[in-house]
Amino acid sequence: MFDRCEHVSGIDPNPPRTTSGCKECEQLGWEWVHLRQCMICGHVGCCDSSRGKHATAHFHETGHSVMRSVQPGETWMWCFPHSSMVGPDGELL
Ligand SMILES: [Zn+2]
Ligand SMILES: [Zn+2]
Ligand SMILES: [Zn+2]
Repeated sequence: MFDRCEHVSGIDPNPPRTTSGCKECEQLGWEWVHLRQCMICGHVGCCDSSRGKHATAHFHETGHSVMRSVQPGETWMWCFPHSSMVGPDGELL
């Protein structure tokens, strides 16, 4: 048995994939490394390896706790309260 992340229950597992970048970085003229998409509102922010860390900032601003990788081929999500990756079935990895 896996431990499960209760934060992903009830959210759409497949929101539309975005093609846009991190808007905050675009305004600042900064570059990002990878993008994360909020599973709750679809906000796109940059990862913690990026200068802006805007995905984490979005969590702190909104309390939206689950993001996913936008990188092609990556299906994992990230739960901030759990500080853990979450698999496609809601299991903590
Ligand atoms: Zn969680
Ligand atoms: Zn950013
Ligand atoms: Zn959000």
